[in-house]
Amino acid sequence: MALKLFNTLSRSIQEFAPLASPNVGMYCCGPTVYDFAHIGNWRTFVFGDLVRRTLELKGYAVTHVMNITDVEDKIIKRVRENKTSLREFTGKYEAAFLEDLKTLNCLLPHHTPHATEHIADIISLIEKLIARGIAYKAADGSVYFSIEKYRGCGCTYGQLLKLNFDEMKAGERVKSDEYAKESVADFALWKARVPEDGDVFWPSPWGEGRPGWHIECSAMSTKILGPSFDLHLGGEDLIFPHHEDEIAQSEGATGKPFVKYWLHGAHLLVEGKKMSKSLGNFFTLRDLLAKGFTGREIRYSLLTAHYRETFNFTLDGLHGARTALARIDECLGKLRDIAGRAALPRVQADQQVGPTGLVQNFSAALDDDLNISAAWGTVFEWVRETNHRLAENSLSAAEATAALTAWNKIDSVLGVGATIGFEIPAEMNLLLEARQAARKAKDFKRADAIRDELKAKGWAIEDTAKGQRLKRI
Ligand SMILES: [Zn+2]
Repeated sequence: MALKLFNTLSRSIQEFAPLASPNVGMYCCGPTVYDFAHIGNWRTFVFGDLVRRTLELKGYAVTHVMNITDVEDKIIKRVRENKTSLREFTGKYEAAFLEDLKTLNCLLPHHTPHATEHIADIISLIEKLIARGIAYKAADGSVYFSIEKYRGCGCTYGQLLKLNFDEMKAGERVKSDEYAKESVADFALWKARVPEDGDVFWPSPWGEGRPGWHIECSAMSTKILGPSFDLHLGGEDLIFPHHEDEIAQSEGATGKPFVKYWLHGAHLLVEGKKMSKSLGNFFTLRDLLAKGFTGREIRYSLLTAHYRETFNFTLDGLHGARTALARIDECLGKLRDIAGRAALPRVQADQQVGPTGLVQNFSAALDDDLNISAAWGTVFEWVRETNHRLAENSLSAAEATAALTAWNKIDSVLGVGATIGFEIPAEMNLLLEARQAARKAKDFKRADAIRDELKAKGWAIEDTAKGQRLKRI
């Protein structure tokens, strides 16, 4: 069966056929490093990771690019407010982002280009657009993309989203990176330096200034993946104007189709409501780790809903993830005991392994526009059957090994395997150390309070020959 995906460009489910199979060029819009990424952002990045891992399971050679947006409107505002430098400010949040990516066991993209390191490419792309008559310098010193000229060349503006051009006011311009589709207008490619930019500016043929956010992604994606590539991913909030503008800039400059398949992940609600700081349902990954959940549990939870469905993220759901993972771990643990903990043989991508059709059924579920619920369905059906065989003691060591090999193959996509299964968050280990210190100082009241805090966060203290250790309750 072939992989089918919903392409926002055609608004339909299409068979995936890359431009130069087995190679796949995939670009995911990365983080704007001005704060810690929240759980809604993480849904999109985990979705990108699922797409890449699924393609790799199917034998494609993926080149995964994810940009780091390290200069745009919001960043400059924060740099000004914090009285710091651009590099110092963005460096801090980029490091946190990459750490969080690891916590969620997302594969590191092959390329993570920074906008500030591609200013020359951005300028040369704008020069191409000016040479083709599609971009112009306005009286304010900034360079804008002309939607009228672009459409005049026979190009379509509004490929991902239907736009009503009758409502457009000719000659209107928008300088800010974010705007609604009701205010569609010529957008800024290069923003002339203004006092609020502080020392964030670069020289250009049009004077000092900085790039607009949209042109950054066009320049970096085409630089690394070429003028046309296979997959472009992002959250659905990026469809307009960001992705629409990316298409216009890239196709306007190269005259070639930019991206073959556009994939968009749906929004996330938290406890049934739109996430907001005032409602107290705004979570960064770090907030959830501090509550005692692990990256593995959070990843599992984010992977339970289909990417095109609005997902209601809840703390109850995370507890459910813990239970579900414990079921898988218990089953895997027993299989390992039977298999004798021998090293597992590596398997080829197309090799048929394990219990009847497990890998094939799992893979077929993902072929159906990444039907993750059906994919989990095959996993839990397998766990149920395996537990049954374990209960009747009818599994041989060879069968247990084959089952574990099949699981490893599946887990190359799910990424929730036992390798990250017993991670203990750093915060919990710090609490354990604090408790040991309290006991040493004979402050038993404090030691007990810390024990209760650990318990509330789902961790029990276990005495072992090597001293005290934390254990999941
Ligand atoms: Zn982008």
